Amino acid sequence: MKNYKAMESALIHGGIFGDPLTGAVNVPIYQTSTYRQEGIGLDVKWEYSRTGNPTRAALEALIAELEGGTAGFAFASGMAAITAVLSLFRAGDRILISSNVYGGTYRVLDKVFRQFDIRYGIVDTTDLSALESAIAPDVKAILVESPANPLMTVTDLAAVSALAKGYGILSIVDNTFMTPYLQQPLKLGADIVIHSATKYLGGHSDLVAGLVLVNSDALAKQLAFLQNATGGVLAPFDAFLLMRGIKTLSVRMDRHVENAQKAAEWLKGTPAVKLVYYPGLPDDPGYEINRKQARNGGAMISFELDERHDFRKFFTSLKLITLAESLGGVESLVCHPATMTHAAIPREIRVKVGITDNLIRLSIGIENIHDLLADLEQAILESEE
Ligand SMILES: *Cc1c(COP(=O)(O)O)cnc(C)c1O
Repeated sequence: MKNYKAMESALIHGGIFGDPLTGAVNVPIYQTSTYRQEGIGLDVKWEYSRTGNPTRAALEALIAELEGGTAGFAFASGMAAITAVLSLFRAGDRILISSNVYGGTYRVLDKVFRQFDIRYGIVDTTDLSALESAIAPDVKAILVESPANPLMTVTDLAAVSALAKGYGILSIVDNTFMTPYLQQPLKLGADIVIHSATKYLGGHSDLVAGLVLVNSDALAKQLAFLQNATGGVLAPFDAFLLMRGIKTLSVRMDRHVENAQKAAEWLKGTPAVKLVYYPGLPDDPGYEINRKQARNGGAMISFELDERHDFRKFFTSLKLITLAESLGGVESLVCHPATMTHAAIPREIRVKVGITDNLIRLSIGIENIHDLLADLEQAILESEE
């Protein structure tokens, strides 16, 4: 029986709370590969830690509850989670992906799954009629992110899920940027939710992990089989660290978002900034749809400096905000999509879709907002040509 109603409480008490054996308020780290069996042919709950581990199981129960799923699966990285989900498909199947899907998702489809004749099609999922006209008999799934990197493009998750359902195909949502605290795609009709828990769920830039959530028994059975068969499971210590991070998700996200909202408004009012991409701003093209499906705009912002500013100088002038891959940690991180996350895309195509050389992506941390704005301000000044 659950003795709480709100997400903030579920983050702490959800799944399996503590250790019934000792009363410890934290689930222990079951650092074991195998388990003693009482005899031959008996039905055992735990047999081998690739198949199941109590620490990992506690995390899986917790995240399933948070996303409103019936089953959760923890993997050694977001990419291991995505690989397991893509392993649901067969040669000849096609998966439609948003045009700005995570680079690693595109890479594994293009360089790995294509070798097995699992194909992909790229569509602008913000355009529902374009998406619908891309659905052909070989299309078996639609994979989307909202907001999507790096222009924080918003896709209508309920509409995409309904469309997929109508054609009898799966809808898959990578919910890394929002977390279940801000957005719950299964409740909007999605069939599968994926996370890179490396980001906000872990929250401290100290682990790499991936999660998959479903709310159908058939999919749960297939994913349990694939998790065990392909073996990219999360280690017990990392499962523990991830549960530790999830406990503070609501307070961290509240501060992340409060800072992001202020930073986006400040950037908007800064003459050196040409464009600001943040679905929490009322004049952002994704604002209305995002508001319908998510608690707020999240904490990822991209912006474009005008031509009078040198992006290289901007990055080297930052003193507090760190230039690094990844996002979602307590510390603010900044990255240069053109040479980092989206370097694989040819320049003409990049620039055409808005990923210009002067585009900067910010993962706003939970530091003091005045310190963050002061750092941005001095770096913008320094970068003036
Ligand atoms: C980082 C990321 C991934 C990949 O996750 P890893 O944990 O790095 O393997 C997938 N999707 C999104 C949206 C991400 O940001």
